[in-house]
Amino acid sequence: MLQTPPARPGMREDEVDTPALLIDLDAFEANLDTMTAHLAGTGAKLRAHAKTHKSAVVAHQQIARGAVGQCVQKVAEAEALAWGGVADILVSNQVVGADKLARLAALARITNIAVCADDAGQVAAIEAAARDAGIRLSVLVEIDVGMGRCGVAPGADAVALAHVIAASPHLRFGGLQAYHGRAQHLRRLEERHFAIGAAADSARRTVEMLRQQGLDCPIVGGAGTGTFELEAGSGVYTEIQAGSYCFMDADYARNLGASGKPVAMFRHALFVLSTVISAVRPGIAVLDAGHKAVAIDSGMPLVWQRPDIRYVGASDEHGKLEVPSEAEAPKVGEKLRLVPGHCDPTVDRFDWYVGVRNGRVECLWPIAARGGFY
Ligand code: PLP
Ligand code: MN
Repeated sequence: MLQTPPARPGMREDEVDTPALLIDLDAFEANLDTMTAHLAGTGAKLRAHAKTHKSAVVAHQQIARGAVGQCVQKVAEAEALAWGGVADILVSNQVVGADKLARLAALARITNIAVCADDAGQVAAIEAAARDAGIRLSVLVEIDVGMGRCGVAPGADAVALAHVIAASPHLRFGGLQAYHGRAQHLRRLEERHFAIGAAADSARRTVEMLRQQGLDCPIVGGAGTGTFELEAGSGVYTEIQAGSYCFMDADYARNLGASGKPVAMFRHALFVLSTVISAVRPGIAVLDAGHKAVAIDSGMPLVWQRPDIRYVGASDEHGKLEVPSEAEAPKVGEKLRLVPGHCDPTVDRFDWYVGVRNGRVECLWPIAARGGFY
């Protein structure tokens, strides 16, 4: 059931009911513009990952600033975006099961849709779904460029699978999916350089082998917020799949740049607004935002503009703050913004974005692709 909106346009931010998911619209728009500026002239285009925002409203703003389309991780996300009018969607993942493949193929009637594969049996299943639906699907070969998750080995194995796709009457070989997830949060820039250098070499070698065997490779896709400049500058990646950059979370803010200082390219634009519900014990304040409101898989949230207060413990519906004796103690009823440790799963906990600017609510956007585990 869709939650009732926690706010209405025109309200002051401190009137918004909590816990609520806020977008600071100025920071968000600045992040979209920053990405556009960084990719200009690199030859690589943005295909932003919607696993972060799960919203056609955000997708359209990214596309208006030059993104070629969107990535999603699963069919339910593809449906939400396609029904929201997004015209070009890549499922950057494996889709397994006849029902899911039938839903995917059905979307090809209303949008351009592509999917990844790393298994010849799966290519046969995708071919059957496309044939039954009477459409043609684009399929990318996922290669493992160092993550050790999905993906065939770069080189001969990838080329063999590309041939199977190209020989399938209802499929088209769409290119290579070459995402290195483990590299995204390597803290030191040199470590990220090393990892993406090797990934780009694997992808380049595979593209060359494909060409030698007469297979054109229209897309080489990958990259996230932590490494996108490296893939974009590699000369081999054509599509950048960064997702988190639009919101920035506390974990990504711990990545270090060339000088050994945090990379300050993107601003925090996503917040969980919460209320102090108890402050009985000295040194402790309790919020109404526990881990059902804010993801803690990549560390605890930070309290926005209160570096003197630490969020130290999350239970289901309570967040515990440690307030040193010299800090001004938050009072019951006071509202505080939290910067999530990890933006994607935090977004998944809410039905609505509350867009704020200059202390006022400007808009409410539905998070239409949230929660669908299928
Ligand atoms: N591409 C793929 C295939 C991913 O799985 C992810 C995230 O896990 C991304 C891109 C986007 O990464 P980020 O949100 O770190 O920018
Ligand atoms: Mn993530």
